Amino acid sequence: MADNAIYYDASKCTGCKGCQINCKQWNRLPSPLEQPEWTGSYESPKENSGNTWLRITFNEVAGNDDDGIGWAFGRNACQHCTDAACAKVCPAGAYYHTAEGSVALDTSKCVGCQFCATACPYHIPHFNDNDGRSRKCWMCQDRIANGLKPACVTTCPTLALQFGTREEMLEKAKARVAEIKPIRPDAMVYGENEMDGLHVIQVLPYGAEAHGMPLNPKENILEQAERWLQPLTVLGVLGISAVAVASFIGGRHFSQAEALKHAYPEDYGRPDEVVVEEMVIEDGRDA
Ligand code: SF4
Ligand code: SF4
Ligand code: SF4
Repeated sequence: MADNAIYYDASKCTGCKGCQINCKQWNRLPSPLEQPEWTGSYESPKENSGNTWLRITFNEVAGNDDDGIGWAFGRNACQHCTDAACAKVCPAGAYYHTAEGSVALDTSKCVGCQFCATACPYHIPHFNDNDGRSRKCWMCQDRIANGLKPACVTTCPTLALQFGTREEMLEKAKARVAEIKPIRPDAMVYGENEMDGLHVIQVLPYGAEAHGMPLNPKENILEQAERWLQPLTVLGVLGISAVAVASFIGGRHFSQAEALKHAYPEDYGRPDEVVVEEMVIEDGRDA
């Protein structure tokens, strides 16, 4: 098993959102049926949710082009932190690190306390309206454990998204930043040291904040403490602790794929191997 990472080069991203759509397709995540409100931006939807785990963000910056405007695209999804705040604060032990480099989530253990959502410096975990349990990108653990690339990566037409060992992705990112520095002086690699090292390595031509990434991400401890101090939360915590203990003693360890089968049984009537084979054919690209 390798320590893997997703590579995202914002200087090659065209904002086509193919990755965003393929994330929904592979993970069987529904889209809202109602017309979204027009916000004056191509960015849609405006926030991640229990059914939107990856979102391409559109930020305008002063560019070097003739019209003086540039796009600083961003990839808003789980960063798969080495020092994962979500895993540290979850009282039910629902989050876990995998041998492939991802931070995955056993939704069957989630008790809906939302501590993970508060602690995550990237505001990633969101709640599924159907069952009130946390959801987020899981690096397509079902695919990577079978030697395939994450679904979003296979879709990218410009190869802005790639997948490989973290070491290789870091090397690639550093080389790309060196290449574009002459025209993008703020260009930087993001993910080498943040949260003790992320498993999403990014090339950000306009600097972190222009692409919507915090420069010095930290676990949101203050907000976390506030929640724990709320009187009603104490009762909740006692209940959560009981569930966590019961889960630890008698609980079966579900993968997120297994948990999703419980949440959406009608969509998961097929064995995983068949789904994987169909995906390769539908993609028309190498896994
Ligand atoms: S980005 Fe947030 S949800 Fe993802 S591993 Fe890091 S702390 Fe957890
Ligand atoms: S790795 Fe999988 S779950 Fe994560 S954003 Fe890409 S397609 Fe979605
Ligand atoms: S598929 Fe590639 S080019 Fe299109 S939005 Fe995603 S990362 Fe950008």
